[in-house]
Amino acid sequence: MHEAAIAQSLLDAILTEAQSQPGKPVAAKISCGAFSALNNEVLCFAFEAISKGTPCEGLKLDIEQKPIQAKCKKCGETFVFDLHRPVCTKCQCEEFELLPDAPLLLNEIEFDEK
Ligand SMILES: [Zn+2]
Repeated sequence: MHEAAIAQSLLDAILTEAQSQPGKPVAAKISCGAFSALNNEVLCFAFEAISKGTPCEGLKLDIEQKPIQAKCKKCGETFVFDLHRPVCTKCQCEEFELLPDAPLLLNEIEFDEK
């Protein structure tokens, strides 16, 4: 399962970061591209399951999905791809290429300062 592997790598990254912090990690913000088809609920569930017994137990995951971006072939404008209106937002042309999906990123970890 895709999500289980991601949950494991997130847990490893948060635990590594937590070693240099005095508090307990309570929340983490991550972002990923809309194409990665990550199931947020499945990811949170997988994370909860593997974090049991670690300092990350009970940590809240906040997942932000980045929109898909496209680049116009005529004017070079980079814009957010809208499925309902797939044209360049600057010159209105329909010749553009979709940019690679945003990678999964761990943006921020919140620690409980005690
Ligand atoms: Zn354009």
